[in-house]
Amino acid sequence: MLNIPATGSCQCGAVTYTLSAEPLFTYACHCHTCQKRTGSACAVALVVALDTLAIEGELTAWSRVSDKGETNTRYNCAACGNTVHGVGEANPALTKLQSGTLDDPRAVEPEVHMWTRSRQAWLKLPDDIPQYTTQPDDPLQLLQAAMDYRASRDGA
Ligand SMILES: [Zn+2]
Ligand SMILES: [Zn+2]
Repeated sequence: MLNIPATGSCQCGAVTYTLSAEPLFTYACHCHTCQKRTGSACAVALVVALDTLAIEGELTAWSRVSDKGETNTRYNCAACGNTVHGVGEANPALTKLQSGTLDDPRAVEPEVHMWTRSRQAWLKLPDDIPQYTTQPDDPLQLLQAAMDYRASRDGA
């Protein structure tokens, strides 16, 4: 469990933050863009309300337009380049906090996986976790799937 408030930082420490409320949910994205962006197998992020994330330190912004035509902006440490969070045009009150930047990243685990069609073959996922081969058109579906998974995990 993630203890709130939760703290985190970039790898050089110039950017630090405090998250003051529980995330809505946590997801893993296996799309190739996230693989490029992270230089890794997938991205794991916490969806949080932007106004619950207090950040100190200088960030740079970089935006790209998604396949759906929406602008997604990533905020990176100005010194080390580490991505800290990212806001999508479709949901400007929310941001995707990169789980590896938490001081205790082991406190969270994905509740839904998306873009599994480009998942690395060696990365095995539990059978009972919600998975999407791409991503649902309605982001609320992701939230609902994560909520259902959380309820079954905690209630079983
Ligand atoms: Zn940094
Ligand atoms: Zn992705």
